[in-house]
Amino acid sequence: MRDIQLLEPDFRESATRLLAHCEKRGFILRPFFTQRDVYEQAKLWRQSRPWPQIETAISDMTLGGASWLAGVLESVGPQSGKWATNALPGQSWHQHGEALDCFVLNQETNGAIWDSKHEGYRVYAKEAVTLGLDAGYYWQRRDAVHVQKEAGRVMDRYSWVELDELMKSRFGKEEERAVKVDTQLKAGYPEVRKEVEKLVNNPKSKFNSLLMQLLDMLFQFRA
Ligand SMILES: [Zn+2]
Repeated sequence: MRDIQLLEPDFRESATRLLAHCEKRGFILRPFFTQRDVYEQAKLWRQSRPWPQIETAISDMTLGGASWLAGVLESVGPQSGKWATNALPGQSWHQHGEALDCFVLNQETNGAIWDSKHEGYRVYAKEAVTLGLDAGYYWQRRDAVHVQKEAGRVMDRYSWVELDELMKSRFGKEEERAVKVDTQLKAGYPEVRKEVEKLVNNPKSKFNSLLMQLLDMLFQFRA
C-alpha cells in the first residue's frame, strides 16, 4: 500500500511536509510503502526462518497474551525468501500508520534510484530529523528508504496484550472484531429471554417450547 492517506494524521502531515522540503532542495521522494497489514508482516518475518524458530515465536506470543497475532503468524503458512525483517506482526510501525518508505526519483528516466549513498537519501533523512522524525538512514542496519514518526520500538509503547487488541481491531475480520459485542450480548441473555417469554406466552401455541429451545441453543453456540 502506497497511499499516504493510510498514515496516522499527525504523521501524514509531517510526511507531506518532508516531501515538500526535499523537493525544495531538488529531490523528488516517491512514497512506495505506507501501511503493511499484519498478514504481510507475518509472511515477511517467516521467510528465511526455520519452523522451530517460528513455533517458538508463536508460543511466546500466545503466552504473552497475543493469541490473535500468534494465529496470524501461524495462518500465513510456509514462506520462502531471504531475510526481510526482525519485526513480528504488529511490531513494525508500518502496521500503525507511523512509518513511510520512499525512493529517490530519477527525474530524467522517471525510475527509482535505489543506491542508498545517493545524495537524495541523505537530504531525505536530514529533513526528516529536522521535522522531529526518525530516519532509518542513520540506523546501524541502514534502511535509507524508511522514516518513522518517532524513535524506539513498538514494544516500548505496547504490551503484547495491548498490541493484540489494537491489531485485531485494525486488521481483524469483521467476525473477529465482533467477539466483544457477542460477549456483551450473552451477558444480556436473561433479560432478552424474559422479554421473549412474555411475547410467546401463549399456551395454545405448540411452537413456544420449540422456540425457547432454539433460543437456548442459539446463545449456547455464541459462547
Ligand atoms: Zn519502512
